[in-house]
Amino acid sequence: MGVISRATDGRQYVAERARVWLTDDAPASVTPTLPVIDLGRGELDRRTAPHIIAAVAAALDRGETHYTDRPGIAPLRHALADRLAAESGIAYDPHSEILISSGGQEGLFVAVQMLVRPGDEVLLADPGYPTYTDAVRLAGGVCLPVPVDPSAGVGLTAAAIEAHLTPRTRLLVIVSPDNPMGAVISRDEMAMIAALAVERDFLVLFDEIYKAFVFDGAAHVNIAAFPGMRARTVIVGSFSKEYAMTGWRVGYVAGAAHLIQPITDLKLALSICSAAPSQWAALAALTGPQDAVAAIRHDLEGRRAALLPALAAMGLPHGNPRGAYYAFADIRSTGRSSADCARIFHERAGVRTLPGHLFGPSGEGYLRVALAQPAPAIRDAMARLAPLVYDLQERRG
Ligand code: PMP
Repeated sequence: MGVISRATDGRQYVAERARVWLTDDAPASVTPTLPVIDLGRGELDRRTAPHIIAAVAAALDRGETHYTDRPGIAPLRHALADRLAAESGIAYDPHSEILISSGGQEGLFVAVQMLVRPGDEVLLADPGYPTYTDAVRLAGGVCLPVPVDPSAGVGLTAAAIEAHLTPRTRLLVIVSPDNPMGAVISRDEMAMIAALAVERDFLVLFDEIYKAFVFDGAAHVNIAAFPGMRARTVIVGSFSKEYAMTGWRVGYVAGAAHLIQPITDLKLALSICSAAPSQWAALAALTGPQDAVAAIRHDLEGRRAALLPALAAMGLPHGNPRGAYYAFADIRSTGRSSADCARIFHERAGVRTLPGHLFGPSGEGYLRVALAQPAPAIRDAMARLAPLVYDLQERRG
């Protein structure tokens, strides 16, 4: 099993974590005999909608092949400002408070580099999306993982955050709905976290890239909308997941001008602007028909119905995920580590999942299972896993 680096140097940390990820993300040392069902990848088996592709073809015909306005094309920034206002009631100035990035990944990276100073402490959910740790370490910040119990299914809580605050806390990273647990922070909890941020004076980086996918009556709640939070929140979003556009690499960063301007400066130094065709694609996605998004959501309901009861029936609790498209299955009853289990499932059943330790120490003992394939394939995968899981549990008992 790979151990995530304890390197003190940020660059060394990034390099070592990437190596562990690449090793444990490809765990099969023998070729599986069955065709592989890939529930490991963090993206759906969906194509970008045809109207988006048509809009890009038209943009290319018009000659939209140049550098764009540095923070992104104006109509896209306006459309995003409208959406954020309609969704959460937060008004952002499209000229000075919205930046178009090359995926949420670049957005979060440049944001962390400009918000975190050497020695600043940053609170992050453990388990959580690991790029945040890379970004903080590279900025010279100190990561303080806040352990989250995956079986509780509620994500970060104000109480857990408060227990980790110190006078050096500069930033809290919130991902809701989250990756890998699929937890969605409730409105009441978010209000308590916001009150804490104001009282104890820290910034919040709010990752909403899975906001389109909430289930079971859960609601997406943006922390920037709470009193006193607009001035201390940076939002990171993306077109990747909602619009099946992972390969276009387009996302956004939004926040009060004093926070966004330095982030925009770094993005300019890094890549000048985001790819012009992708920005026109994002505009078509945002302003065009939303039925493809509704179809994905509907499809995910069917996939959840195929996955969640089957995991529970095998004795693998999953914390009832209410968002994103992941379940984080507790495999401790097998007596095997996450890495072992992922390897065994891949080699013997042809089912790919991701070992939980890749998301932080508290992810050990869990596997991330993505709703990345249609419901029949998920059912097939669960039928293949059941005898293996029982066998492991029995041998242990
Ligand atoms: N944030 C989270 C929580 C993610 O899971 C991911 C990708 N899986 C990203 C950001 C980055 O995604 P993208 O660059 O495709 O927008």
